[in-house]
Amino acid sequence: MKRLTLALAGAAFSCLLTGTAFAQAGKTIGVSWSNFQEERWKTDEAAIKAAIEAAGGKYISADAQSSAAKQLTDVESLISQGANALIILAQDSDAIGPAVEKAVNEGIPVVGYDRLIENKDAFYITFDNKEVGRIQAREVMKVAPEGNYAFIKGSSADPNADFLFAGQVEVLKEAMDAGKIKNVGEAYTDGWLPENAQANMEQILTANNNEVAAVVASNDGTAGGAIAALEAQGLAGSVPVSGQDADFAALNRIARGTQTVSVWKDSRELGKRAAEIAIELADGKAMGDIAGVTAFNGGAKGIEMESIFLTPIAITKENLGTIIDAGWVAKDVVCQGV
Ligand code: BGC
Repeated sequence: MKRLTLALAGAAFSCLLTGTAFAQAGKTIGVSWSNFQEERWKTDEAAIKAAIEAAGGKYISADAQSSAAKQLTDVESLISQGANALIILAQDSDAIGPAVEKAVNEGIPVVGYDRLIENKDAFYITFDNKEVGRIQAREVMKVAPEGNYAFIKGSSADPNADFLFAGQVEVLKEAMDAGKIKNVGEAYTDGWLPENAQANMEQILTANNNEVAAVVASNDGTAGGAIAALEAQGLAGSVPVSGQDADFAALNRIARGTQTVSVWKDSRELGKRAAEIAIELADGKAMGDIAGVTAFNGGAKGIEMESIFLTPIAITKENLGTIIDAGWVAKDVVCQGV
């Protein structure tokens, strides 16, 4: 009788827990980071770690420190440490291929995190990057409906760079075709490094005698570099500039008026969802059975992937309050020096 009561109590207890927690406890999830250059990745990491630990699992990780070669050995090391599933933020979407194949061959599920890893056996979770690009162009265009445009793109090793650019051009195309907007310079930013963005922006300014009406920069780091170049020419604040990530420094620039828009992708949510999915996959769930899954085939190779896209949000001077209210950032940080 006593044993029966205990068994019933156990069953009732696990029924009260929601989602994947508890039922799939004990999984080790290995996360391979490309680097922690941008502020956002620490937020992503905290969310992933918290969700894994909430489910009774173990978080192990490696930082490739911007080296595509190191990331290959990182993934192998996570596998040898006993990872039951992997979450990978690829430094280089092509170079990571063999490591992903090795994991898949060993039956270890792989989640491509934020950046596409084009392999049909990997899951893909990200924000709608094309929409991020559309938002960037849309907000900049509101300020500069015509004139010379500079495009400070992301890293060429990151498929997001081209998704963003595609979204940007989609919005600007009509005005470009009509000759109202002219692309006077576009450059990838090696390693997404702000100093490379600054150098590219300096070149574009020089080549155009400073006649640049707008800068479509692909993230807040590159926006910072571009704005430094504009500042040196006395142009910061008069030329609209886009970004993304809702970096604290960028939100402050928006408040000060030197940056026009950032795109907020709540990485707390992305991290949580990715961790939950990794646990579900480690527990044997099929990729097609993950809640909210959609098919995606928009990568360079056109491979169909099981994916999830979260929705990005435009942050401009008008709605800075939204992101403060959401607990992302404190008001005094945003308003510092304003
Ligand atoms: C991410 C951006 C980030 C950039 C540099 C992109 O893949 O989507 O949020 O700013 O990489 O890390």
